[in-house]
Amino acid sequence: MIQLSNIQKSFGKTEVLKGIDLQVNKGDIVSILGPSGSGKTTLLRCINFLEKANEGTIKVDNIALDVKTASKKEITELRKKTAMVFQNYNLFQHKTVLQNITEGLMIVQKKSEKEAIEIAKTMLTKVSLEHKANNYPSALSGGQQQRVGIARALALNPEVILFDEPTSALDPELVGEVLDVIQKIAKEGITMIIVTHEMNFARDISNRVVFMDGGVVVEEGTPSEIFNNPKSDRTKQFLRRLV
Ligand code: ATP
Repeated sequence: MIQLSNIQKSFGKTEVLKGIDLQVNKGDIVSILGPSGSGKTTLLRCINFLEKANEGTIKVDNIALDVKTASKKEITELRKKTAMVFQNYNLFQHKTVLQNITEGLMIVQKKSEKEAIEIAKTMLTKVSLEHKANNYPSALSGGQQQRVGIARALALNPEVILFDEPTSALDPELVGEVLDVIQKIAKEGITMIIVTHEMNFARDISNRVVFMDGGVVVEEGTPSEIFNNPKSDRTKQFLRRLV
């Protein structure tokens, strides 16, 4: 469903991604782990062209793009198939919770206001925030704001949700509620790619784990393969440091 081939990305002279190949099947929940600076977030951002890779091809569903020749129109079409949940929520502060969700539905997906509100309310119920629909983000805790971010992503009915360290900006006591919501929607069978530092969560939620280091995929496998029986010394060293 998603196929990345030879994705390369440099910032100036710094080579951050050195030829990533990755396949994600429909319904997969893939966690991407790795040390700080290994390129996890950059890879995620390259998938929906928030960062433009220098080399490689990206296929999402039936759209396959060579990053060097992709047109704006093709990129827009590919973006419609993805939704991103950001580390810092990225909510519009001057819009209510409900408006944060309806905005994309009306502007990008051209839904009527009535239909957009209906979808937004359903999604807010999924993340247990229906009672906050008319609040502004500033009146919500970080955990609640992130749950709005997740509801907004879900509302777009994407082929894949890309989670970029969804809990790393949260106070420790708020991490659980966000992970619980992600667990819950994972059970609905939606394809997800999750960059995370939460090892127990990655182990529980994923059917595949990808370990990156130095801009390459070092190893991938089932959670049990990666956590209980890692093959690469780099993976072993990374996991040892965490315990
Ligand atoms: P972390 O776990 O700390 O978030 P990461 O594995 O997600 O790290 P990235 O955020 O992808 O790593 O960053 C990889 C490298 O790319 C880092 O050295 C970072 O400084 C660099 N980098 C990322 N974005 C930019 C940018 N816009 N301009 C310049 N350098 C960047």
